[in-house]
Amino acid sequence: MSIAPIGAFAGLRELAGSVAVLPPTPRMPVLFLGHGSPMNAIEDNTFSRGWRTTGNDLPKPHAILCISAHWETRGTFVTGMEKPRTIHDFGGFPQALFDVQYPAPGSPELVVAAQATVTARHIGVDHQWGLDHGAWSVIMHLFPKADVPVVQLSLDRSLSPQAHYDLARELSALREKGVLIIASGNMVHNLGVIDWNNPEGGYDWAVEANERMKEMILSRDHDSLIRFRDQGVAFQKSIPTPEHYLPLLYSLGLSDAREPICLFNDRTLMGSISMTSVRIG
Ligand code: ZN
Repeated sequence: MSIAPIGAFAGLRELAGSVAVLPPTPRMPVLFLGHGSPMNAIEDNTFSRGWRTTGNDLPKPHAILCISAHWETRGTFVTGMEKPRTIHDFGGFPQALFDVQYPAPGSPELVVAAQATVTARHIGVDHQWGLDHGAWSVIMHLFPKADVPVVQLSLDRSLSPQAHYDLARELSALREKGVLIIASGNMVHNLGVIDWNNPEGGYDWAVEANERMKEMILSRDHDSLIRFRDQGVAFQKSIPTPEHYLPLLYSLGLSDAREPICLFNDRTLMGSISMTSVRIG
């Protein structure tokens, strides 16, 4: 199929009228990836090796939809550009990290499919963003050739945790159209109290929250995870702001009750970060 250049809502409208936007496939897995430091993009460490191993076990998707903690908006948007730029949305890191480019193309087909799949709310098309480090710092390990198109979905600040989960349930139909959905955040993420002298461990409350979250994930107790604000002090300290936690709710909303769940990169570090990651399906 030829694709009209986007600048270009007109191109998207043409696509929406076409038949085979994204053909059916076996159901794709879903990932929640704890991304941690942007340096994981260029370091060979436990976490980047975990992502590479995970990537080697994945079926090749038609496209990736990534929900990153680092793109918050009013309203829900997807990136609509054909060549999303690599955004270096951080400061104080070595030049080598700013030199990283991840030139994966966008996917107008996935934009149209996402809009068609979600009926409870409008999905807008954005032409300003690109791929932020929550997306590229992990996806570059899964697909180093940058040969799978990537679209980001923003986190709508105005939605409740339940509404984020419900939006994910609507998006789950994309899993049967060759779309690998990657949610990128951190289950425990409190930068305000990071312990730079403790690279290998976590505060008691961080370890407790990480353990309880894992139990809830494995027992499919999604209600408790959606009501994370009611889970006591350990959760409150671990989730001082919701943007790194909410991607986890997307991965759970995308799952069904019978799918296998696999945890990996299960480590708490620098006191207040957990890198625990989840593969579903
Ligand atoms: Zn982050």
